[in-house]
Amino acid sequence: MRYAIFSDVHGNLQALEAVCQAYKKENIDAYYCLGDIVGYGANPNECIDMVRRLKAVSVAGNHDWAVLGRTDVAYFNPVAKQAVFWTKEKLTQTSKTFLESLELICKTEAFTLVHASLNDPKRFRYIFEIGQTPETFARLDGNVCFIGHTHIPGIFLQKGEKRSQSFSSEVSVTDAEKYIINAGSVGQPRDGNPLAAYCIYDTDQKKISIKRISYDIREAQKRILDAHLPEILAFRLAVGQ
Ligand code: ZN
Repeated sequence: MRYAIFSDVHGNLQALEAVCQAYKKENIDAYYCLGDIVGYGANPNECIDMVRRLKAVSVAGNHDWAVLGRTDVAYFNPVAKQAVFWTKEKLTQTSKTFLESLELICKTEAFTLVHASLNDPKRFRYIFEIGQTPETFARLDGNVCFIGHTHIPGIFLQKGEKRSQSFSSEVSVTDAEKYIINAGSVGQPRDGNPLAAYCIYDTDQKKISIKRISYDIREAQKRILDAHLPEILAFRLAVGQ
C-alpha cells in the first residue's frame, strides 16, 4: 500500500492543491491528514472540502479544536488568536460538523496518527527534538507514528533504549526500530524551506519519504492580505518560517 500522509494545511488552498497534484503522480491508495486543516490561511472551508474529497482520515489539531472552542486560546500568540477568531467566523456549518467529528488519535494496521504527541494528546505537546520523544515512543503500539504540529519535517528513531534523529528526507522501516515521523506542513512550513511538505509511506517497499513541492505562494499571500488577516501570516510563507 502507498499511503499519503500530510499535516498542517492551515487554510492554504494553493499549497494543498499543489500537494494533491503531486500525490496524483504517486499511485496513492489512501490519504491521511494529521490535523490543523484550518487557522492562519484564507481558505479554511475550501481546504476542509478538499480533505473530504480525498476521503482523508484526519485527526484533530490544536487549531481545529480552537475554532470549535474546545481548546483554550490563552496560550496562542496574538496572531494565531486573531486567525482563530477570523476562521471561526468564516466556517460553514458543514465545516464545523466535519471538524467536530475528528478524533485526537487514529490507529491503523500500519501506523498511528496524532497531531502533536501521544502523551496527553489534547494538550498538544511539541516534539521538536529527540529528548521530547520518549513518552510518545512508550505509548506507540505499532512501530510507526506520524505527527505534525511543529511544521518542521523530521524523523526520530528508537532501537531498544537508544533514540536518535535522522536529518534525511527518507527512512527505511525495519521491525527492529520504532519511528516518529513529522510530516512537516503543507500550508505553513517553518524549517526555512517555503515549499509545501508532504509524506508518503510505502508499506511494500517499507519506505517513508518526506517530499517538497512549490506552489503559488503569491496567490496564498494575496488571499491572506485581502482577508485582512495579520500581514505576518502572508510574509512568513515566502521564507518558510
Ligand atoms: Zn499547525
